[in-house]
Amino acid sequence: MKSPTWTLMAAFITATCSMSLSYYAHSTDIETDFIWPANYQAAVSLSYDDALMSQLAHAIPALDKYGFKASFYLTLANPGTQQGMEQWRSVAANGHELGNHTIFHPCSKSQKDRDWVAAYHDIDTKTLTQIQQEISVANTFLQAIDSQTSRTFTIPCGDTETAEGNYVEVIRNDFVAIKGFNPQYDAKFDLLLMPENVSGETLINFVKKAHRQGGIANILFHGIEGDYLTVSNQAHDELLQYLSDNRETLWVDNYRNIMQYVKLKHQPLNPQE
Ligand SMILES: [Zn+2]
Repeated sequence: MKSPTWTLMAAFITATCSMSLSYYAHSTDIETDFIWPANYQAAVSLSYDDALMSQLAHAIPALDKYGFKASFYLTLANPGTQQGMEQWRSVAANGHELGNHTIFHPCSKSQKDRDWVAAYHDIDTKTLTQIQQEISVANTFLQAIDSQTSRTFTIPCGDTETAEGNYVEVIRNDFVAIKGFNPQYDAKFDLLLMPENVSGETLINFVKKAHRQGGIANILFHGIEGDYLTVSNQAHDELLQYLSDNRETLWVDNYRNIMQYVKLKHQPLNPQE
């Protein structure tokens, strides 16, 4: 069943998901002891937000072709979650991560061009408990699909402020990591790109930047050859070909696996006395 509200929302997400990702200030201390496993010099986390059908149609076959694993952040109220249910299940069984992107994708209605945000999903009016419970139920829902008990989270619209303040720390311990919001680690692990209508070269250049820093190239895709915030199959495939050509030195994996390693190996930047 298609909701007209969702259709309207999808049209406007183009203008919203790409903006306002806010970042925590990271410590200026540089982590010098950290090393990636094997011969890897950096990591690449390919992720795909909002449970879009173009991801099942185009991204999955392309990833499979190269044997790469990625993270898919499902918005559970999005029709694509229900319509693709069996595919999402097999995607998870195949080693990809199903990440939490909430049930209703709450964003701030007070931001520019946010007419599409329904009043009842306006994060400006939510309490911390409401958000925490929505995210907790989303974890239960995802576990029912993939049987996994740990995963990562991506913040809808990058909007973190409820009526009672920032919700990130309230949910932090429920996740291996929160994409782009890990101030306990070196900033090089939170490099983010949310591409729209870009060339393969742009995507590759972003990876090269993360490679030089020894960090993580986090690329947050939405539509692939369709839907919104679209990246073409050609650009997507050029990136995957580049990653394949450099697979000895670039660790491409789902975000859960990468961040579990970081969590294990990274010394806290500001250890408690
Ligand atoms: Zn989103």
